[in-house]
Amino acid sequence: MSDPRRTVVPAEYAEGVRVKLLTATSSTQGYRDNDFDFCVEGELVHIGESCAGEHPDPDGPCGCGRSFIGLNSHAATTTVLIRELPGFTPADYVEALRSSLQQQGRDASHVIHEAAALYTLARQFPAGTVLERRLDEIAARGPIRQPG
Ligand SMILES: [Zn+2]
Repeated sequence: MSDPRRTVVPAEYAEGVRVKLLTATSSTQGYRDNDFDFCVEGELVHIGESCAGEHPDPDGPCGCGRSFIGLNSHAATTTVLIRELPGFTPADYVEALRSSLQQQGRDASHVIHEAAALYTLARQFPAGTVLERRLDEIAARGPIRQPG
């Protein structure tokens, strides 16, 4: 059986191509009254599961319907920044995601699909775009300059 990490990587993400990633940011915090950011600035994030079925309100008290989860901190933020990270490969993202899910004691068997969905999402926006989440919808807050 071939390396499953290779099967997910689209041709345009060959080695050396810059991959866009979703990273935690404090930029634009306060744009909404119920913003929060407990993540480490710049850490990779993914879109966590939410209890949206019970609480179909992105502005509900739980906050899970409007937040992203940091892969390292396992904390939540309502704002993420699209960054290009030179040298970071899709396989690196898969591994980061897998490692984070395992640390959280969660099932990592769908990690390749989740990583692919995150690439697909991130590539739709220019680097430097701040995104927010409204349940299943991810929207741009507007472009800013990528730090660093
Ligand atoms: Zn919730």
